[in-house]
Amino acid sequence: MPGGVRRPSMARMAEDARPADPVEDGGDPACWLRRVCPACGRLADVDPPVRCAACGELLPADQDD
Ligand SMILES: [Zn+2]
Repeated sequence: MPGGVRRPSMARMAEDARPADPVEDGGDPACWLRRVCPACGRLADVDPPVRCAACGELLPADQDD
């Protein structure tokens, strides 16, 4: 049994930690992922920038393009 074999799966899991969601509503999952409050995890009703309705945390606009 080889003891030094390490698969790169761990790194990939960390890179792509999003849960697999089979539900398709015609949009990219990233469009709602950025609505998730970083403080409490609540999903905002509209795209950022917006304040979290639950805790008041400001969700910054995603400019990652
Ligand atoms: Zn919040």
